Amino acid sequence: MRDRTLAPGVQPARLDPQQYHENFSDLHAPLEGHEALVAADRCYFCHDAPCITACPTDIDIPLFIRQIATGTPEAAAQTILSQNILGGMCARVCPTETLCEQACVREAAEGAPVRIGQLQRYATDALMANDVHPFTRAAPTGKRVAVVGAGPAGLSCAHRLAMKGHDVTVFDGRAKPGGLNEFGIAAYKTVDSFAEREVAWLLGIGGITIETGQRLGRELSLEALRADHDAVFLGLGLGGVNALGLDAEKREGLSDAVDFIADLRQTDDLSRLPVGRDVVVIGGGMTAIDAAVQARLLGALNVTLVYRRGRDRMNASVFEQDLATSKGVRIITNAQPVAIHGNGAVREVEFEFTGDDLTPTGHRFRLSADQVLRAIGQRLEGDGLPELEGGKIRVSGTGRTSLDRVWAGGDCAAGGDDLTVTAVAEGRDAAEDIHISLLTS
Ligand SMILES: Cc1cc2nc3c(=O)[nH]c(=O)nc-3n(C[C@H](O)[C@H](O)[C@H](O)COP(=O)(O)OP(=O)(O)OC[C@H]3O[C@@H](n4cnc5c(N)ncnc54)[C@H](O)[C@@H]3O)c2cc1C
Ligand code: SF4
Repeated sequence: MRDRTLAPGVQPARLDPQQYHENFSDLHAPLEGHEALVAADRCYFCHDAPCITACPTDIDIPLFIRQIATGTPEAAAQTILSQNILGGMCARVCPTETLCEQACVREAAEGAPVRIGQLQRYATDALMANDVHPFTRAAPTGKRVAVVGAGPAGLSCAHRLAMKGHDVTVFDGRAKPGGLNEFGIAAYKTVDSFAEREVAWLLGIGGITIETGQRLGRELSLEALRADHDAVFLGLGLGGVNALGLDAEKREGLSDAVDFIADLRQTDDLSRLPVGRDVVVIGGGMTAIDAAVQARLLGALNVTLVYRRGRDRMNASVFEQDLATSKGVRIITNAQPVAIHGNGAVREVEFEFTGDDLTPTGHRFRLSADQVLRAIGQRLEGDGLPELEGGKIRVSGTGRTSLDRVWAGGDCAAGGDDLTVTAVAEGRDAAEDIHISLLTS
């Protein structure tokens, strides 16, 4: 549950107005034309390109880089988008340092990979600037598919199905589509309302209706959707958040990092967002890092991220960890919270150092805090879902669930990394399988 009560030290307007703009501007400035040509020129166009294997959406990277090198960025974008319809967002948010760029032979040889992510952004930005949707629909099939969840998985699935000529309705519980692209990704990775513009651009294919404020388990039931549609795709993400398991979960100043980030992403005036003076973030994933960095950028004086295991076990990549420390976030590892102190409002968090297997060592310390952000993982919420495995929906390789004519993909489905690009790949692959099954049914 969202805790809107604020501890006394948590205030808005900690910075000069101009400082907010500087702090939340683009993390990586886009490449200029000549920079793109120089970057593309570094590619060896490897025959057995390991970068393709490392990309969850199997984009033909050497091909699109060659298309940039020959001065046809729109053709490059077509290569990218035919595999990954959210290639524009993925160019901004993919942890390329652990995917394609890690696999790039120039990384192994020289420690400096081809800047694949930046080049992907250059190409997709060039195409999207034209305002023309580059794909067309096949002849109508008369088949109707319901997609639940308008995040990367649902949108990718919906687009591929619409291209095949099916009619798609995407239902989402929130007031706006986009999923975590709209409500979760760090603001400095997706500036200028890019998430919203990308959804509008994607819908240019036609054949997709989005219905917001429609929540499975509230306005919708899976049985009714199955009865009304030829197939259903579930791209629900992970809506629930894990609790700390301490007594003081309801104390003023303690809230979920995902809510803090969602508020930040939705505000039109960052100076009105309250932030603490001493912020403690608990967790070691991307959410924890993003919350810590953005708390600093909003003007928090001291931000400390505390993770219960070692740095090598953090889900956030080394790049993300370095980004956090470069912004002044202190990272403490091998420590877990044991108590939250304060009379009504948070004042201190007490931690105990842990051994590598999480055994308590008996050595404790306290951190001053007027704001504590919980980022210890999200979980799938909902009743009446298909069979689960490890708390997520059990799926086959192409997203089939235990229920007939129901597919699932993205974060809510078992297996795979919880990444934007993986959700796009799973949505697309499920759409292909749904299409085959609709043709034969
Ligand atoms: C703070 C944060 C930062 C992240 N940063 C990155 C990053 O930099 N790079 C990266 O690759 N990945 C990042 N991720 C992970 C990435 O955002 C997810 O892996 C991705 O969004 C998953 O896509 P999805 O479509 O499965 O789910 P989501 O994006 O969560 O979308 C699910 C959609 O389903 C809707 N929904 C949920 N339940 C219901 C229901 N019952 N009825 C109707 N609709 C429902 C939701 O409103 C939402 O729109 C981040 C995640 C978080 C939390
Ligand atoms: S591995 Fe690097 S050099 Fe080889 S094709 Fe991919 S991007 Fe180009």
